[in-house]
Amino acid sequence: MNAMPHKIDDTRELHEDSLGESVLRHLIYSVGKDKAHADARDWNVALSLAVRDRMVEGWIDTTRRIYKNKQKRVYYLSMEFMIGRMLEDNLTNLGLLSEAKTFLKSQNLDVTTVINAEQDAALGNGGLGRLAACFMDSMATTGVAGMGYGIRYQHGIFRQAVEDGWQVEEPEDWLFAGNSWEFRRPEVVYEIGFGGHVTHDEDGKATWHPSESVQAVAFDMPIAGWEGDHVNTLRLWSARQSGMMNLDTFNDGDFMAAARQQVLAETISKVLYPGDHTPQGRELRLKQEVFFTSASLHDLLRRFFANYDNLDTLGDHVAVQLNDTHPAIAVPELIRILMDDHGYDFDHALKITRETLHYTNHTLLPEALEKWPRDLFEQILPRHLQIINMIDGAFYREAIEKGLDHHIIAGIQAIHPHQQDWVRMGNLAFIGSRKVNGVSALHTELMKQTVFHDLHTMYPDKIINQTNGVTPRRWLLECNPGLSDLVTEQIGDGWIDDLEQLKEIEPLATDADFQQRYMAVKAANKQRLADMVKTRTGVILNSDAIFDVQIKRIHEYKRQHMNILETIALYNAIKANPDGDWQPRVKIFAGKAAPSYFFAKLIIKLINDVAKVVNNDPDIGDKLKVVFLPNYNVSMAEILIPGADLSEQISTAGFEASGTGNMKFALNGALTIGTLDGANVEMLEHVDAENIFIFGMNADEVAERQHRRARPSEIIKTSPALQQVMTQIGDGTFSDGDTDRYRDFLSNVTEHDYFQVVPDFQSYWDMQRHLDALYGQSEKWAEKTILNTARMGWFSSDRTIRSYADQIWRAPHKTSGP
Ligand SMILES: *Cc1c(COP(=O)(O)O)cnc(C)c1O
Repeated sequence: MNAMPHKIDDTRELHEDSLGESVLRHLIYSVGKDKAHADARDWNVALSLAVRDRMVEGWIDTTRRIYKNKQKRVYYLSMEFMIGRMLEDNLTNLGLLSEAKTFLKSQNLDVTTVINAEQDAALGNGGLGRLAACFMDSMATTGVAGMGYGIRYQHGIFRQAVEDGWQVEEPEDWLFAGNSWEFRRPEVVYEIGFGGHVTHDEDGKATWHPSESVQAVAFDMPIAGWEGDHVNTLRLWSARQSGMMNLDTFNDGDFMAAARQQVLAETISKVLYPGDHTPQGRELRLKQEVFFTSASLHDLLRRFFANYDNLDTLGDHVAVQLNDTHPAIAVPELIRILMDDHGYDFDHALKITRETLHYTNHTLLPEALEKWPRDLFEQILPRHLQIINMIDGAFYREAIEKGLDHHIIAGIQAIHPHQQDWVRMGNLAFIGSRKVNGVSALHTELMKQTVFHDLHTMYPDKIINQTNGVTPRRWLLECNPGLSDLVTEQIGDGWIDDLEQLKEIEPLATDADFQQRYMAVKAANKQRLADMVKTRTGVILNSDAIFDVQIKRIHEYKRQHMNILETIALYNAIKANPDGDWQPRVKIFAGKAAPSYFFAKLIIKLINDVAKVVNNDPDIGDKLKVVFLPNYNVSMAEILIPGADLSEQISTAGFEASGTGNMKFALNGALTIGTLDGANVEMLEHVDAENIFIFGMNADEVAERQHRRARPSEIIKTSPALQQVMTQIGDGTFSDGDTDRYRDFLSNVTEHDYFQVVPDFQSYWDMQRHLDALYGQSEKWAEKTILNTARMGWFSSDRTIRSYADQIWRAPHKTSGP
């Protein structure tokens, strides 16, 4: 029996055999091993190839359908796609999971071991990259003709190790054993130029003569939606030397010179976020952005020309979404292609561009808004710089017409007309796009008030909100099979692609039997988490404790340091009264720090230092444990999130654009302790104030305090508990007597405290103690937990994608529900 209905005649005879038979065939003929010698990875590869075979017909079928119907296409350009492992995702969406499990068991194989033999595709850094991955899943599920474009990094993001409590970066080698999901497309190659000069002929037509070029080669991964009949493509570009190695040089014995060109070319797709503290590093990053953006635009135009012959209507048939400013070079690049390759005049080229491109903003942090030195730009992209100057000229005329004054215009052009120092990619993306979206209601509002205030006045209809979401397939169905089964048993499985159906379990929130079954699932997930912690760190956890989890990139605005300060204060309180009626707690942290971000690395060290003292203190025992798990990634999140009781979403209000970790936790029944920031604000509206634990200043209060530059030391003086914590960090209590180690940490918190840890500390502490008490009332806790799951349906990325499709892309999709 075949699990998939046949759709294409020419593949009908190809897999009459069962999944198990296909796996055995692949084990022998693709992997080249017999059963007696195959290890977990061999089985993983054989199974993946068997599943991949079954995706291909849906893939070809989807491609034909889109082409035939001339369905509007959506292209999602992103520097990151943090897709994690794909086997379980694909088995699930194709409805093959139970057949695969039965087969593996029949071969005496452990299912988890085989599934975990796949390396995470670590092609992302944080929420932005995971969002792109959730969107790929949801575009396929909702039937959007969507294609992702990014870079096939050979090493992705670094692998984090912890040595003596400090973060150490090691190269990630995820492609070492190959990638079972990808198809190399050697025929899909584009030359990407850099440097050189520009000439103009007598009609003024420009020609760019790059001085160097590399090739972008396509690698495709099929992305199947729920139930597998719509299969989109993730196309990642790999860099390759243009032209062949110089054989004469090689034969003359200068092997290094012969290899040099190849190494330089391939550097472009080596790593995600190479260090940018050197000029070479900055140049490399700019080249990476140009590389994948230019290749993607050429590729989508080639596809456009298969259906149409006139680029005037590009925006009617194609929508491009720029995930942050990394692909913002698309604005001048598309104009350049239209003008220099297709003969459009500038005004017309700008008009078409502004009908086609859309830009998602992910941050208001000024230091995170990308800008490039004008000189570097001129050297690498001389033609693009000319075009940016034309865009700025056209923009200037529009702005004057709309009555803006010169100073304001200068501040919002791509290049400041007098300073001429930077190319500001946020302004460029805004000016060149049809719609600009924020990623939560609060963030979008703040965009209008701050970074894009003046641009918003000029184009009041351009900014639009699209609150982020997460895919329920990976973030409930796959990562939490116990809860999925329980829910499905009650309300059927319609929730999987219509998550708002979870509302139907609301009446069960106070049902004693359901509470007990829900909490039994939670207990099993906590045990799975505890087993992982034991394997990875040796720390043994008490699974009756509150599992309190903060997992995300380490950054001051996310305030892991506020959490560890509260941990120390709790440690002190327990020690002062060891026989008190303490609610046991486990504090779990995970996350990577940017390699050059010293303060974030110091926070990791402090967490590990505190863990060493607390975990080995006999007065404390099971009442408090602190764990830092190295190398946070998608697969680790899939274990941590279902096992959490409490989700830490404690960013300084106004700084977390949306967050998506917050959504995954609440969906899986963790209660949130958080600030009124990002999507927490909307979670509050959906789950209701009694079921989410909000503390601290709101964004207006934070901004007001930052403006006043209020001194944290005044507040510390009034808090003996916080004072004691600061003293201990300074006197070496957690650093073997080293009084120097945390000097920078202390001055950051006590003198500047830009992210307002000190003023929020007391309300954070109070809320934690309130949660201790609540956890003791297990029925009440269970009720709130269930209500979180029941009311988080709106946060499905299917809802987000339908909204993008309707309000931004004007692209067709399947509607939700039966
Ligand atoms: C969801 C997710 C993130 C984003 O987490 P935030 O808490 O929203 O910052 C980062 N990394 C991984 C691996 C994730 O799964």
